[in-house]
Parts: sequence; C-alpha cells; structure tokens
Amino acid sequence: MSRAHVLVLPFPAQGHVNPLMDLSHELAKHDIKITFVNTDFINKQIMEAEATRNEDKEQVGSDQIQMVSIPDGIEQEEDRNRWEILIESIWQVMPMKLEQLIQEISEKSENEKISCVVADAAMGWALEVAEKMGIHRATFLSTSAAVLALCFSIPKLLDDGIIDDDGTPTKDQIIHLAPNMPAMRTKHFPWAQMGAGLNAQKLVFNCMMRNNAAEIAEWAICNSAHELEPSAFAYAPNILPIGPLQASKSNHVDHLAGSFWREDSTCLNWLDQQPDKSVIYVAFGSFTIFDLLQLQELALGLELSNKPFLWVVRSDINNGAVNAFLKEFEDRLCSHGKVVGWAPQQKVLTHPSIACFLSHCGWNSTIEGVINGVPFLSWPYFADQFLNETYICDIWKVGLRLNRDNGIISQEEITFKIKQLLNDEGLRARASELKEKVIDNVKDGGSSNKNLKNLVDWIKA
Ligand code: UDP
Repeated sequence: MSRAHVLVLPFPAQGHVNPLMDLSHELAKHDIKITFVNTDFINKQIMEAEATRNEDKEQVGSDQIQMVSIPDGIEQEEDRNRWEILIESIWQVMPMKLEQLIQEISEKSENEKISCVVADAAMGWALEVAEKMGIHRATFLSTSAAVLALCFSIPKLLDDGIIDDDGTPTKDQIIHLAPNMPAMRTKHFPWAQMGAGLNAQKLVFNCMMRNNAAEIAEWAICNSAHELEPSAFAYAPNILPIGPLQASKSNHVDHLAGSFWREDSTCLNWLDQQPDKSVIYVAFGSFTIFDLLQLQELALGLELSNKPFLWVVRSDINNGAVNAFLKEFEDRLCSHGKVVGWAPQQKVLTHPSIACFLSHCGWNSTIEGVINGVPFLSWPYFADQFLNETYICDIWKVGLRLNRDNGIISQEEITFKIKQLLNDEGLRARASELKEKVIDNVKDGGSSNKNLKNLVDWIKA
C-alpha cells in the first residue's frame, strides 16, 4: 500500500517556513512522508545556515522530510525585497513549476504520489493547482485566525464602504467584525500596512481576496489555539487551530529548523551567566528595518534601563552607518548586554534568565513568548503585527505598548516601559496563566491535538 505523501508549500519568508516546518515534523511523526517545497533562493539560504548548525547533533525527522525547491522567477536579487515584484513573480512562475514538480514525483513511483497539498494561505494559487490535479488540499495560516476571519470578511467590508476596491480604508476608524472580536483599526488592516506604497498594498489585498477562493481548501488550519482566539474561531468555525506547534516540540531534540540565518548560540552561554528573570530579550523578526535615529534611541533606552539585554540585530537591518554605531555601542557595553545577528529564539525564550520580550509582535514570536509565559513590550512594524499587539496588550493583557512620539519610540519611553513591566507582577502572573492554558492544547486530549489527529486520519484515509 502506498504511504501518505504530503507536499508542504510555505510563502518564502522566515515566519511562514518555521511553522510549516514544525507542522511537517508533526505529520512525519505519524509516518507521513513530506516533500517540503521552498523557492530555490530560500532553500539555498536554509541549507547554508543548516550546514553550520549543531554539526554533531542528531537531527530527528529529517529523513521523513525531503527538502526540494522550485524557482520564484526573480532575476535580480534585490527585487526579492520588494513585495509587489515578489508576489507578482510568484503568481506568474510558481504554479506551472509546482505542477511540473508534482507530475515528476508521481511519474517516479506510483507509491510515492502526492496525496495532499498543504499550502500557506499566502500561496492560495497552489490549492488551485492541487484541485486541477485531483489532489486533496489544506490551507495553512501562519498568522492569527483573526486575520483569516478578516479575509473572509472582505466582501462585507467592501459592501459596508469600510474599504475601497483596492483595500484602502475609506476612513481611519475602529471596527469589530463581530461583537467579541478584537478591535481592528482600519488603517492597521494587514494589507494597508505593507510599508511599500499603494501597488504593494493592492497586490497583498488581491492575494488576501484570492485566499477567499480557498473555499476549495478541504481544511483550513492555523498555528493558534482555541483559548487564544475564542471569538475568531466562533466567527469563522471552519478554521481549525492545531497549535501552538512550537509547544509540541521536545526540548531535547534538534529538528531541521528552516532558519535562514546562522544562529549565534553563544548567547545561550551568556544567558547562563545572568540572574533568573533579569534579561530583556529584544528581537524584531526577519523583516523589520530601522533608521539610524530609531536604532540609536533603542540602544540608548536599553543602556539606560540598566538591565541585562540580548538584542538581535540582523545584518540587513540597515546600512553601514548603523554598523559603525553598533560597534561603538557594543564596545562600550562590555558584559551588560549582548548583540547577535540571529538568535536561536525558541531556546532563548525558554531560558530562565529571560524577564521580558521586546518584540515586533510577529505571530510566531507572539506564540513563542506566550508558550514560555514571557510578558511583552510591543513594537509592531507592519502587516498583522498591530492586530497581534491588540491581542497581547488588550485581550490577553500580557504586555505593554511602546508609544510613538512623532513616529519615534524614544529612549525615555523604552526605559519607562521596561521599568513599569518589571514591576508589574499582575502582568507576569497573567502570562504564566496563559502559558498553562495554551500549551495544554497540544497535549493528549487538548483541542488542537484532536484537530491535528483528525487531520492526520484524513490525510492517511
Ligand atoms: N527568529 C529566530 N531568531 C531570531 C529572530 C527570529 O529564530 O533572532 C524566528 C522566530 O523564532 C520566529 C521567526 O523567526 O519563529 C519570525 O517569525 P515572526 O512571525 O515572529 O516574524 P516575521 O519574521 O514574520 O516578521
């Protein structure tokens, strides 16, 4: 009998590859073969980072997961950082390449045929390819369920005149999709926050509209948990939570992770030297860019707070001017703080020395903070991060906002909020309670665990 074989397709971004890699490991535990499809560019980046990671450690699950790649059609490397070019190119080139790949796999062996495609919600076109080829299909959302609920509501938002045809909010206002749904500020709709002009907004908006065509998905799953978003799951009951996937992992096993950058593990030794619950962990995910002024304010705010901190500054966070400033800053700091290019974030957040997470509120970072009971200082940058901030600060009440003054978050605001957070026992207690509620979901009998088991049974049927 042929073994179930799932093709997993993430959008080419770190915050999309990570949870789908976690899901792949979960499926692989149930003897499901996985073909994990990245773009050529991302695959090369992952393989290079992976080659330098934990060379002497056993990697579990990797033999069940085959990494393959197809082109994204981008000719000039710098164009990859421009949403409008990337998305358009993906739409033009990848459907045909994916179809060819699926055909090649099935021609190789009757027993190895792809039985199901699990595609990132941002790659909705892949479900159309799967449907055309008569293959089962599931859509996976790497953001909160509330974002997909918002996508489903686009026709109503258009009818009610809340947005124009290209997704532009007609006015800046706060709306609720349903009485208990989180408040959403229209100017913070994910597509209106792409930071790259109207063209990028239109493309992302169209992409999200096209996800509505994901009616052809037989399953809609997301890396969330019922307790995190009860109102979103009530509003859109066809979306099923299977998370938090990061909490399903065993701490003792080093999975093939899918990191795009080489992790600097020296920060774990540095954390070992710090007192319990003392360190401010500062990380802004894989996209956030800073100008020199904002970066200086952050650096000075951390320095003035007089607390130990671990700060991730990616090499592409800005330009040479930033590098010169950072070099001088690091020299001055001595052992008071540590700056790394890319951290093993999930391990960092489990470390007992971590007191709080100053975060851009990407959905993965949000989940990773929550499952470790770490309170947040929120600093959203774009896309869905403002909505995640609402969850963190207003709904779960496990974090404090950093407020902008004339577009800048000042060093005074940073030191003030660090102090306020560290003195707030209620915040820490709520973060611990939320952690306990949420991680139970992936344990035996938990609702996410049941959904995942049902998904596995469906895939293997
Ligand atoms: N991450 C990491 N090391 C870092 C910073 C981030 O491993 O130094 C990981 C983090 O654990 C998360 C992902 O990168 O899984 C970022 O995803 P998220 O949704 O938080 O943000 P995005 O990059 O999509 O903005």
